[in-house]
Amino acid sequence: MISEYSRTSVTLRDTARFSTICIHAGQEPDPSTGAIVTPIYQTSTYVQDALGVHKGYEYARTQNPTRAALEANIAAIEGGRAGFAFASGMAAEGAIMTLLEAGDHVVVTDNTYGGTYRLFERVLRKFGLDFTYVDTSQLDLIERAITPATKMLFLETPTNPVLGLTDLPAACEIAHRRGVAVVVDNTFASPYVQRPIRFGADLVVHSTTKFLNGHSDSVGGVVVAVRDDHIEWLRFVQNAEGAILGPMDAWLVLRGTKTLPIRMERHNANAMVLAEYLAAHPKVAKVHYPGLPSHPQHALARRQMSGFGGLISFQAGSLERARTVLNGVRLMALAESLGGVETLISHPATMTHASVPPERRAQLGITDDLVRVSVGIEDIEDLQEDLAQALDRV
Ligand SMILES: *Cc1c(COP(=O)(O)O)cnc(C)c1O
Repeated sequence: MISEYSRTSVTLRDTARFSTICIHAGQEPDPSTGAIVTPIYQTSTYVQDALGVHKGYEYARTQNPTRAALEANIAAIEGGRAGFAFASGMAAEGAIMTLLEAGDHVVVTDNTYGGTYRLFERVLRKFGLDFTYVDTSQLDLIERAITPATKMLFLETPTNPVLGLTDLPAACEIAHRRGVAVVVDNTFASPYVQRPIRFGADLVVHSTTKFLNGHSDSVGGVVVAVRDDHIEWLRFVQNAEGAILGPMDAWLVLRGTKTLPIRMERHNANAMVLAEYLAAHPKVAKVHYPGLPSHPQHALARRQMSGFGGLISFQAGSLERARTVLNGVRLMALAESLGGVETLISHPATMTHASVPPERRAQLGITDDLVRVSVGIEDIEDLQEDLAQALDRV
């Protein structure tokens, strides 16, 4: 379904399928030249024809055609009604949280992205918001955490880095029964793999830095909404706080979303091959990947995901062995972040999750021997050979 807020091209019908939506939604030939690609409108203001007469654009914090094209595009991709692009994934989350007021309570997936935890605990608690972190893969824990003050359920599935899942339709049902709005951080899966609005989510947030842009060359975020009250407030706060995505980055992400389906197919396929390879490898203690039948929530993954995503993690047996693999790879790059065309390998305990206390890391399954791979779209033989030679050193 194409967003009614989208600037859709004349040829795109509301029966359009996913790849067609990715390429065309929100895109129309540039009205002044016919350019097929939405230009980078690198401007701060717009000349008005006469006092009070303009073309719908007054000042570029409020409206920018490149950003508007991206917002319509991602709203359609996620099956929402409106999108709002921000300077980063964290800025997008910050905007969502302004829907709340002092005294409101939020139930959060316990293994949420570290930056989300930091925003909630270090910034938003100062403004009177309260947060409870639970293992949202256990539906009864969600139910029990909801209080009369709860206004929002903030979910992340799959989680980073152990790839635990939350049952989205069931969690949305529980929340909505209690009048609680559901936000899903869909960064890890990407909308090719999972579209939470279909399962009842009210708001979807992305770090476009990851799979949506897909080329490791831009930082950004987007919120997709369905409810009128949310849309109205987000439009207001995007302008009022002003943490907007710039036109150059909006253009880069638009270029990225056009190839999202074929990139994700390759991410999914490569990750599946590497997960199976690692699971059979004698030097690997355990592999975490929702696509493996050994994953405790494999059946749920099959129900709510199409393909199992590009992230895998595995346990090398000890910190020393993990270090040998991490330092031994030649093609895979040792780096944080994920979702780009190039394969990245990282050590959560000392990199992305270094600020999480050791006992908490242990509870979340982030062991010292855990290695995470954001599997890129290179030739799978090269990726497998690289891991093989690194594991040989162990
Ligand atoms: C990266 C990331 C974010 C934050 O996005 P930025 O663009 O880095 O601000 C939020 N959630 C998840 C799951 C992420 O991976």
